Amino acid sequence: MPAAATADATAARLARLGIHGARDLVLHLPLRYEDETRLTPLDEARPGVPILVEAEVVESKVEFRGRRTLVVKLDENGRELWVRFLHFYPSQQKQLAPGKLVRLFGEVRPGFFGDEMVHPRYRIVAKGAALPKSLTPVYPTTAGLSQQLLRDRINGALDTLDLGDTLDDDLLSELKLMPFREAVLALHRPAPDVDAASLEDRTHPAWRRLKFDELLAQQLAMRIAYRERRAKSAPALPDAHTLTNALVKSLPFPLTRAQRQAHAAISRDLSHPHPMRRLLQGDVGSGKTLVAAMAAMQAIENGWQAALMAPTEILAEQHYLKLSHWLEPLGVKIAWLAGGQKAKARREAVEAIARGDTQLAIGTHALFQEGVEFAKLGLAIVDEQHRFGVEQRLALSSKAGGLEPHQLMMSATPIPRTLSMSYYADLDVTVIDELPPGRSPVVTKLVAEDRRDEVIERIREACAEGAQAYWVCPLIEESEALQLATAIETFETIRDTFPDLKVGLVHGRLKPAEKAHVMAEFKAKRIQLLVATTVIEVGVDVPNASLMVIEHAERMGLAQLHQLRGRVGRGPRQSLAVLLYYQPLSELARERLKAIYETSDGFEIARRDLAMRGPGEYLGARQSGAPLLRFADLERDLDLVEQARDTAEKLLKAKSPAVARHIDRWLGSRQFFLKA
Ligand code: ADP
Ligand code: MG
Repeated sequence: MPAAATADATAARLARLGIHGARDLVLHLPLRYEDETRLTPLDEARPGVPILVEAEVVESKVEFRGRRTLVVKLDENGRELWVRFLHFYPSQQKQLAPGKLVRLFGEVRPGFFGDEMVHPRYRIVAKGAALPKSLTPVYPTTAGLSQQLLRDRINGALDTLDLGDTLDDDLLSELKLMPFREAVLALHRPAPDVDAASLEDRTHPAWRRLKFDELLAQQLAMRIAYRERRAKSAPALPDAHTLTNALVKSLPFPLTRAQRQAHAAISRDLSHPHPMRRLLQGDVGSGKTLVAAMAAMQAIENGWQAALMAPTEILAEQHYLKLSHWLEPLGVKIAWLAGGQKAKARREAVEAIARGDTQLAIGTHALFQEGVEFAKLGLAIVDEQHRFGVEQRLALSSKAGGLEPHQLMMSATPIPRTLSMSYYADLDVTVIDELPPGRSPVVTKLVAEDRRDEVIERIREACAEGAQAYWVCPLIEESEALQLATAIETFETIRDTFPDLKVGLVHGRLKPAEKAHVMAEFKAKRIQLLVATTVIEVGVDVPNASLMVIEHAERMGLAQLHQLRGRVGRGPRQSLAVLLYYQPLSELARERLKAIYETSDGFEIARRDLAMRGPGEYLGARQSGAPLLRFADLERDLDLVEQARDTAEKLLKAKSPAVARHIDRWLGSRQFFLKA
């Protein structure tokens, strides 16, 4: 291969590890270390512990032992050592000629002829050659990239790059952190007497320094994004108490304390001439929709438009029905916009939005597609925000002409504190921590599949007494076609099982109008038992439905089970969720089912889910925007997260030059993501 092509291939492989330049090399940290700083005599070798041995070649030959094998016999102070290579080059046999002195690194095991090493790493040495002074780092790598190449490149970067500190000495001693240069050298070239355990479990002060730096970069980027947003202009929409009050007066129930507080925070944001980015979190059923409706009223009473976007058509439709019911009596003009709409209806909606005749537009992401121009969008509300992609969120902020619209995001997936302190630090967060009164908690039962008959009996009795139930189909993640087939099959089985009940079916492939029809029939109690895929997971609200059976519950994620279960327990009737599971259960599935059985608190469930799965799932759309943390662990390093947050605030306030230095070192080219 020509040299240029090899260099390109190497660059591509390095890029796969996230290494694009010398700075990335410095931050490519070892997974573990090997101790080649001292020789170990063969008779001190212990099983499972790799050691460095020095021995002289006595003989080397190629043998056939099922396959060609290079067998080398060595002498270590009178003891025999046998080495076998199953893959080798002809040159290796020549290289390992009798009389050569070799240093071998690997595990020694009792073999066919005596002590044996298989495929050790080795080097021919001169007598008395110096040993390395530091432990040998082992780096995360990828196919085709050798440890030696990585080591050479990283050593080169360490020797040539400016490793000067981004932070002042005073700050470092205040934070009890070691200098950056010392920290990276300690990690890449640890002294032989280092506390190896603290390197491996990443508690060594050098690790703490790098974790802190990484977290600080994240905090700085988030806080800067926050400040930049606060510097932009948005319409000031003070609470005029006309429509908002009218809405509250028209309701058959009072707001909960938590709803009042959430409204107050949002109302305050809206009254400022800077764009709000507030995340409203509340467990399923906590009444977020009403709080969103009040925010929309505040925008509308100021003469601006509001938009409410939901991730699925079912959910958007429900919002449309509910808000029409609440707001049309108040004279609010509402438009509906979704993908599956007829061309004419869509055109009319789009025109009304552009003329400003529509005050509130509700729909799916169709709301923010090409050709939809709001006359005067003051507030965009995004329900279940984590289900939308970054692009969709961007599209949304670009439709306000001169001023940025305010944004209210809602989520029923509670975000654990550590996450909201880090990845969500550019948002303001409000939590609704209370459910409306009169709800009875859902009883959850775990039932093995072989007791299915009892479950069927129970549903039959309950439906005979006027209850309604959901029957959730098994989740088939691999294929949408298979998911559809399973849904139809489940529907047919259930219909045959319950000949006396009216059974309906709703799944993701139904046309929007068909979906709406089925949901309306269920709401009107003309369907008693609704077979559904997980499309009902989000936001569906039918208070009379008090039973839910989830098939193959062991296949579902914890957050998903919690969301599904939240569809019942919305009315005065005692509700029941039956989780049917198939054995044998994997360890993870067992843990999930245990968690969902033991607790109904969304935050506790989120915490356990985070512990089981890591933060990736929670970040959803954010994941592709903000780079994930490589070194720090949000749970384990909570103290560092807090320290980094406070330090970021302090540096920004003091307009310290450390801010630019630090961001440059840690985020470099990745900074642009954070502008989004
Ligand atoms: P979520 O937070 O899951 O989106 P919803 O907004 O769908 O919850 O509210 C769940 C149900 O509770 C709806 O039927 C809604 O009308 C009702 N609700 C909302 N606020 C109250 C309240 N303060 N008192 C009683 N019921 C309420
Ligand atoms: Mg909702």
